[in-house]
Amino acid sequence: MKVLCAWCVRDGKPAFLREKFPLEDPSETHGLCGDHFTSLSASVGKVVTPRVWLLSRMHDLSWGLTRWAQRVMGRLWSLC
Ligand SMILES: [Zn+2]
Repeated sequence: MKVLCAWCVRDGKPAFLREKFPLEDPSETHGLCGDHFTSLSASVGKVVTPRVWLLSRMHDLSWGLTRWAQRVMGRLWSLC
């Protein structure tokens, strides 16, 4: 498969990024090249730094734990 930058395609620029498995499949899929990733991050107003990523993962984790605790507590209460 060919990976093309969707934004380069839109701009009419050379969009080929890389090949992806299965290599014998001639169809195309879309990704984002380094340049467009940078400009998109800038336009969003923040670059996704490892710290931001970690914070969002922590949020997911604490949310998951809360849900799990609620489920366990709910089961315990139903036993009483
Ligand atoms: Zn691009």
